[in-house]
Amino acid sequence: MNRLLCDFRVVGPIQTNCYFLYHEDTRECLIIDPGFEEDTIEEYVRRKELKPIGILLTHGHFDHMVAANEVREKFGVKIYAGAAEKEIMADGAQNVSAQFTSPVTLEADEWLEDGQEVTFLGQTMRCIYTPGHTAGGVCYYFGKEGILFSGDTLFQESVGRTDFPTGSMQQLIRSVREKLFPLPDGVKVYPGHGMMTTIGHEKNFNPFIGAEQS
Ligand SMILES: [Zn+2]
Repeated sequence: MNRLLCDFRVVGPIQTNCYFLYHEDTRECLIIDPGFEEDTIEEYVRRKELKPIGILLTHGHFDHMVAANEVREKFGVKIYAGAAEKEIMADGAQNVSAQFTSPVTLEADEWLEDGQEVTFLGQTMRCIYTPGHTAGGVCYYFGKEGILFSGDTLFQESVGRTDFPTGSMQQLIRSVREKLFPLPDGVKVYPGHGMMTTIGHEKNFNPFIGAEQS
């Protein structure tokens, strides 16, 4: 059997979804967007007897990465992020931490390029650049499993805000149309906030992307 399970905890003041994607048998686990509450994350990992193998960051906003360094040190794993997000992660003003808490910066261990594939949990994961919410934001696609972690790019019947540094609504809409909507309708979308959805549902009901032609 090669079965992956996906679960999450809502962490921190902005109710960020921190996901755990893990293999049912081996218990190997990826942690996506450990925004806050390293204790909550550690408790979940221990209780489920998971073995973390890496941390994926969809983008550098503080509410998705504040606990990442502690989780990395705790479990001795690497942090993966989009290479184009490097500057935002290194700048407390751009990653909005300075505005909400105190400035936080973070350096990933592996900087991924657009379309780069990495094998995790016995499957191919593809990093898809989806600029718009931030300049270097990415989605993570597990094609065999039909799962997409969409960060703050695509939400259930909504999209991420674009009024933070490097944001662009025009770019975000283009990213969703050109990079995400071509994925199969049945792909499950796990967003950075709120409820999960599917590509097919969003193609039909997302009012921000809509049917108007670019
Ligand atoms: Zn964000």
